[in-house]
Amino acid sequence: MAQLIDGKQLSNQVLQEVASEVEQLRAEHDVVPTLAVVLVGEDPASQVYVRNKVKRAKETGMGSIEHRLGTATTQGDLNQLIDQLNNDPQVHGILVQLPLPSHLDEEQVIAAINPAKDVDGFHPVNVGALAAGQASLVPCTPQGCMIMLRQVHPDLSGKNAVVVGRSNIVGKPMAALLLQANCTVTIAHSRTKDIESLCRNADIVIAAAGRMELINADWIRPGATVIDVGINAIEVDGKRKLVGDVAFDSVSEIAGAITPVPGGVGPMTIACLLLNTTRAARRQLA
Ligand code: NAD
Repeated sequence: MAQLIDGKQLSNQVLQEVASEVEQLRAEHDVVPTLAVVLVGEDPASQVYVRNKVKRAKETGMGSIEHRLGTATTQGDLNQLIDQLNNDPQVHGILVQLPLPSHLDEEQVIAAINPAKDVDGFHPVNVGALAAGQASLVPCTPQGCMIMLRQVHPDLSGKNAVVVGRSNIVGKPMAALLLQANCTVTIAHSRTKDIESLCRNADIVIAAAGRMELINADWIRPGATVIDVGINAIEVDGKRKLVGDVAFDSVSEIAGAITPVPGGVGPMTIACLLLNTTRAARRQLA
């Protein structure tokens, strides 16, 4: 049976580190690291994500500010709010919860955030810095995956890693981080031919396609490490349930280590968001 990489437990460790950094910034610099979260519209999943982020932020002693805007919010209104947060010295991190209602331009909104406060790491300046191997605010989900991987592989050098998915928020930054850790990286996506055999050759498989049970035991090399980023909502016996992109039961009999869904990458993502907020606050010290 595969070793379970427990995201809840590991995220609690990260949150403890965050809490002590919050305390240190307060004691030494009289600064309360503060995260501003902006939610536009009524998307139920986004409401849950925002609630969890704010709750965890409060638990670490960090400041948090919530801005809930109606679905009819215009691009101008949103840009004005971002401008205000960019210029507020009490705000160290800004997160605009995605997806935005379809009449709003996500790219423009991301570009409007001050890169120094871009705790999601989506601003082109931070994306470029990551690609160039420079210090930057790194997207939270791949950052969390790296912490999980390091539990199993303190040295990732020379490992064959396959990332399934090439989105800007997960797949691409994930591949950049693995490359930085000296892995040999393959990015697979919806047009890739024979993903199955690519995965079978991998020491590490990162599943980030958003396709339920895409990855089954036949795809996995015995002993490989499998990180499941996918979140897919399904109904079982009339009840809503979350599952990943990996067929957990069968794959955990083959893999060496695996992350569960829920309780895997999800909690790590939130912990890394708060880690980024303390990092941003420290860098903003005059
Ligand atoms: P996305 O839809 O933007 O990208 C999905 C990627 O998967 C695309 O690059 C696409 O080419 C690829 N893909 C789709 N179908 C495929 C297939 N059959 N075979 C191979 N590749 C395929 O999604 P995203 O935002 O990157 O998120 C991916 C998944 O991760 C979703 O389930 C999302 O909910 C989840 N997610 C979880 C967290 C977390 O904190 N746990 C954070 C972000 C995203």
